[in-house]
Amino acid sequence: MPHGNVQRMFLFEQTTFVYLIFFAVLGLVFGSFGNVLIYRIPNNQGLGGRSKCPSCSTTIRSFDLIPVISYLLLAGRCRKCKATIAIRYPAIELISGVLFVLAYIQMGSVLTGLLLAFAIWLLLLIAAIDQSTQGIPDILNIPLIVISIAFGITQGHLSLIAFLIGTGFFFIQWAVSRGKWIGSGDVLLSIALTALLGKWNLVLVMLCSAYIVGSIFAVYLLIKKKCSGQDHLAFAPFLVIGTLIALFLGEIILSKLLLI
Ligand SMILES: [Zn+2]
Repeated sequence: MPHGNVQRMFLFEQTTFVYLIFFAVLGLVFGSFGNVLIYRIPNNQGLGGRSKCPSCSTTIRSFDLIPVISYLLLAGRCRKCKATIAIRYPAIELISGVLFVLAYIQMGSVLTGLLLAFAIWLLLLIAAIDQSTQGIPDILNIPLIVISIAFGITQGHLSLIAFLIGTGFFFIQWAVSRGKWIGSGDVLLSIALTALLGKWNLVLVMLCSAYIVGSIFAVYLLIKKKCSGQDHLAFAPFLVIGTLIALFLGEIILSKLLLI
């Protein structure tokens, strides 16, 4: 290989590496910010004011707010009152960091990588908030729809058939049950998910994955007697898991299915 090529390849790998680190750190920081939003949005709290320990109300000092690392250094306990910090906090930070990196790897470009990463970040918040409150706030759904459509436009993959399947499926359920089976938030969410995925066959992968994972989880809860048949299970987390599966593994799943 000519010397110039080796140098260029090395330079290329170096930039890719720098971007990977950039996306990982950005994902961790946004995960930490996401934890604040997951707690404050359902409680109608503003973004002003520092984070406090939920047990002793001590303001958390900035060096105890480093994503994941602070949790490990504090061994999962508040510095002041030693109350256990929920594992959810570092988990969200870590998941966010990993998903930002995956978004960059998937797109191979900083701009579209960022668009996808922010859309996924909003999905993460929506899943967590729907899980704890059984509702999806418009304040997250609306920006998600805007970002997802912008992403769909950059990919040139927005398709009417995909929307008829992806959004139509939820709109019909919502209209027939007058909002009892699923909420209007789920219908809005489905617009964003379809715009992100684009192709109708990826939308089908998303729906199937969401229902398969959701059913397994429901059966698990019933066996463990953690809920009764009447309990309402938040569906957004499964739609989000289905979307992530379709986004990152959809093409592989489809090519394997079509070969059989
Ligand atoms: Zn405390």
